[in-house]
Amino acid sequence: MTLPEITAAIQSVKTGINIVRGFNQLKTEFEVKSATLELLNSIIDVQNNLLTIQASYQSLFDSKSEIEKELVNLKNWETTKLNYALKQISPGCFVYVMKDAQNSTDNSYWLCANCFNTKNHKSIFQRKYASGEDVVCHSCNAELNIPSKTQHQIPKPTGW
Ligand SMILES: [Zn+2]
Repeated sequence: MTLPEITAAIQSVKTGINIVRGFNQLKTEFEVKSATLELLNSIIDVQNNLLTIQASYQSLFDSKSEIEKELVNLKNWETTKLNYALKQISPGCFVYVMKDAQNSTDNSYWLCANCFNTKNHKSIFQRKYASGEDVVCHSCNAELNIPSKTQHQIPKPTGW
């Protein structure tokens, strides 16, 4: 796709070239001044079109950089996702947990399934109150109300 400003700039350059080629055929000072003014207008048209083209190029370059950044983030997320699995911690309560969480005390946490699936983001559930078992996601405000007597199907995070 060609920007219309490129076509217009090319046309203005052609007009300028024709004006310059016709200079030696001009007879009067008035004709020279008119041709000079016409040439100046052609140069101004080229300049304006080039400024518009420059702005368009910068906009496209910024969009391209943003898309490349999003692509890298998506690829990284796809790799990260492979390390987690959806688990039901109590009836109707689903979280993502690290696949090898049982083998590592450092990686024992529950991730918000909403943030995981809709925002491509890891948000760790935090206990809502120091003494209770209800948890909240501080990213999307999702809450899981976990009855204290619930038999968790997976281990609770370390320290609970
Ligand atoms: Zn969340």
